[in-house]
Amino acid sequence: MKGKAEVGTSLTTAEYVEMEERYGAFNYDPLNVVVKEARGVWVEDVEGKKYMDCLAAYSALNQGHCHPAILETMLAQARRVTLTSRAFRNEQLPLLCRDMHEMTGMEMTLPMNSGAEAVETALKAARRWGYEKKGIPRDKAEIIVCDGNFHGRTITIVSFTTEDAYRRGFGPYTPGFKVVPYGDAEAIRQAITDNTCAVMVEPIQGEAGIIIPPKGYLEEIQAACRKNNVLFMLDEIQSGLGRSGKLFAYMHEDVRPDAIICGKALSGGYYPVSAVIASREMLGVFKPGEHGSTFGGNPLACAVARTALRVLRDEKLSERSAELGAYFMERLKTIESPVIREVRGRGLWIGVELTKSARPFCEALMEEGILCKETHDTVIRIAPPLIIDREDLDWAFERFKKVLTSPGLTT
Ligand SMILES: *Cc1c(COP(=O)(O)O)cnc(C)c1O
Repeated sequence: MKGKAEVGTSLTTAEYVEMEERYGAFNYDPLNVVVKEARGVWVEDVEGKKYMDCLAAYSALNQGHCHPAILETMLAQARRVTLTSRAFRNEQLPLLCRDMHEMTGMEMTLPMNSGAEAVETALKAARRWGYEKKGIPRDKAEIIVCDGNFHGRTITIVSFTTEDAYRRGFGPYTPGFKVVPYGDAEAIRQAITDNTCAVMVEPIQGEAGIIIPPKGYLEEIQAACRKNNVLFMLDEIQSGLGRSGKLFAYMHEDVRPDAIICGKALSGGYYPVSAVIASREMLGVFKPGEHGSTFGGNPLACAVARTALRVLRDEKLSERSAELGAYFMERLKTIESPVIREVRGRGLWIGVELTKSARPFCEALMEEGILCKETHDTVIRIAPPLIIDREDLDWAFERFKKVLTSPGLTT
């Protein structure tokens, strides 16, 4: 281990790619851009080329890369104390839980690390609630989820995915889940039984290709849940924290879920932090020893999350997302291209659905200095950091227009 590789910044893109493919597992198929530095909406690769980040780490970077206020908190807290485990208390956890309460009106917060862990936490709480509070017979609890869902990658979560690639070869699967079509409240009403403890949905499906359900969908689900004594749980890991133009996407409707599952931008991209924010009725079911995580609720995570939330508020990122998203979507809709099937979105969360594979378009955008990733094969997802300004969007627009109308790609 001597020489160039140790410095870490002096190899070429091809050399890093080759090294990663030689020694790393193949569970992703990334674009071949090797990022070295980033700030705000811009990233720079190892060759010194700059790109606009229009993915924002799947919405974990709503506050932008290396936000200075979050960095300051991160460094200050890292010098003070980073981990106590929950065997002892730390002074940051109660402050984060109070912030969450003040932000959402929810009674309790249970912090975890990754999004999938927060989803697992909500599923466990829902089942426990079903047995203890609703009186569901032992091991009979059912949870209703939707077709096209994305909730993470654990064995239980992939047990109810409808995406073959996420699921195939990972059985035996966890039972107890019913899958219904997304956007169809009647299907949920039909699927509820006496043994249903919860319904869990994404207010807008991100991974499925920015799928926006019909107006009133969440209100109808909530009504069905209230009527049948079922918990109403929303996975806001991607849709939340300003992405859709509201603090949480459910706020586009008049509902109040029993649980909000939160992650990604909760740390502004600095650190894995997730949480279930819920009613006392639901999260109150856990007693000491029944659930936990070594790193969950650690003081570094909590301090970083508090500042990440403060940045969202101080910089009015939800409002920004709503305003600039509407502006950019209007502009995108003016592009005349034979390959565009639909432009849809909420806030700075826009899907451009094509009539063909989106991958070559993402590669061409990369050449033009824009980083995007296709989702569901035919959709280009546009989700830049919410701190982006109009000028940057205008710059991006010219490049989207060029690529989406390029004769080499569209014919
Ligand atoms: C990303 C995501 C998850 C999983 O989060 P991880 O941190 O990758 O485990 C769950 N639900 C939704 C909606 C997501 O977008």
